[in-house]
Amino acid sequence: MGKFLKASCKCGYTKSSLNFGHGMYNNENFGVPCLVLDSFEVCSSDITKKNENIDVLFYNNSLLQDKKQRSSTMFFGDITLQNNGNFFLYFCNYDLSFSLGLIYD
Ligand SMILES: [Zn+2]
Repeated sequence: MGKFLKASCKCGYTKSSLNFGHGMYNNENFGVPCLVLDSFEVCSSDITKKNENIDVLFYNNSLLQDKKQRSSTMFFGDITLQNNGNFFLYFCNYDLSFSLGLIYD
């Protein structure tokens, strides 16, 4: 089952309906929250097309994860996200968190 995550940062930025994983009927796509590097927006993109998505960094990348804040994680297959301590903007540093929204089939 896929999940929708909500990202929120201590500065007040929020983004909801971020696809994580995939459902039974679209299992060729694997949505993973990512940071869009030119606009500094959080979105969700297909990690199976990682080589075409050169302008994003996926949040399972250790560059975006402050391991000291890795108290809880969420995973889908072998993709692991940490709930807290995710990098956002330079002035936000590692203040971005992911929380679980809807789960879909
Ligand atoms: Zn922030």
